[in-house]
Amino acid sequence: MRSYPNLNLNLNRLFLFPMASQTQDSPLQLSPVLPYSVRPMSLEVGIVGLPNVGKSTIFNALTAAGALAANYPFATIEPNVGVVAVPDERLKTIREFIKSEKIIPAALRVVDIAGIVRGASTGEGLGNKFLSHIREVDAILHVVRCFAGGDILHVEGSVDPLRDIDTIDTELILADLETVSSSLDKAERTARSGDKDSIARSEILRKAKVHLNEGKPVRQLEFTPDERKLVKSLGLITAKKVLYVANVAEDDLHGESPLVQQVRERAKQEGGAVVPVCGKLEAELSELPESDRAEMLESMGLAEPALASLTREAYKLLGLQSYFTAGPKEIRAWDIPVGATAPQAAGVIHTDFEKAFIRAEIYTIDDLKQYKTEQAIRAAGRLRAEGKSYVMHDGDVTHFLHGA
Ligand code: GDP
Repeated sequence: MRSYPNLNLNLNRLFLFPMASQTQDSPLQLSPVLPYSVRPMSLEVGIVGLPNVGKSTIFNALTAAGALAANYPFATIEPNVGVVAVPDERLKTIREFIKSEKIIPAALRVVDIAGIVRGASTGEGLGNKFLSHIREVDAILHVVRCFAGGDILHVEGSVDPLRDIDTIDTELILADLETVSSSLDKAERTARSGDKDSIARSEILRKAKVHLNEGKPVRQLEFTPDERKLVKSLGLITAKKVLYVANVAEDDLHGESPLVQQVRERAKQEGGAVVPVCGKLEAELSELPESDRAEMLESMGLAEPALASLTREAYKLLGLQSYFTAGPKEIRAWDIPVGATAPQAAGVIHTDFEKAFIRAEIYTIDDLKQYKTEQAIRAAGRLRAEGKSYVMHDGDVTHFLHGA
């Protein structure tokens, strides 16, 4: 298991974390319900970007954690770790039919990774301290500045998101080249003895090296599923998936400006996506009480904070989907990789449930809407009994039967 140096601090921070919770008779409200069971295996996304593009502002708004956001490069010297809920309307739908004390959404870990500037891989700025943090994350949120903000310094002197993306990519590519070169030497030495694993590693490393030398990130390369596992074990930063977060101006909330279009075009070439977020506005929104927040959103013609779609996109980027458990104590979303089987899904709740899995009883939210209660779903023959080989579907409402 990974260790998180800031975990104690962040457990404290969880007390501030506004999880959505609701009682049957009251409207959905923010309350400090602790996501105690945010499991250590929760996947983690790292926020990267040049200084002053709005990383801390977005991180703070995401986690409502209050880390320092200042008009000063390297305001976030230590990586900040937070936990964010993945908004999911389906939880509220289930709540309409099943009485429960609280709702617990799925969660992601977010790390604010500071210190990447031009030359960082060779020691500029904070040097390559960022590397150890970024190697740990499962995917990258790359914040690019698309707002002018006259008084806010841009480290490169002007607003140019494509140049900024290239600057960051170059640093990460250089860092990967170093990793690849030293790993390749080792792998080639052991490959000489005929070790199959080392031979496979050498081949991938050579392929990656050629590509990186052309200034391209490893994520652009095609790999077989077996190769992909090997790539993962190499810890290459540019092999990680990236979601671009365009930090937009207040008058461009939907990201229609030419600057955002450029980022969108770049993401498209890479098979990725862009989420427009106005950091400043999201920061203001995150400080408002829930009731005022809805009003402010409405006045701006937005259905939800941009951070909600950002979190959902990040969840998708990680290849995650949710299944639900629902009972009188809690209605809860659990994250599982797309393709997980029923026992694997049970194992997310408790490893013993996976080992002692007997079967799963599953229905859909549409069944719940149609039949209103679990008893009626069962009576209508819509409660499915699924065995060990069942591959979970997104949105399955599940009871696990196990011998643990
Ligand atoms: P970081 O260095 O990338 O973490 O950047 P910060 O989040 O500390 O932001 C740098 C400065 O830009 C701060 O003064 C923020 O208030 C400001 N800022 C962040 N997002 C926005 C935005 O969307 N619009 C404007 N105008 N300013 C922003």
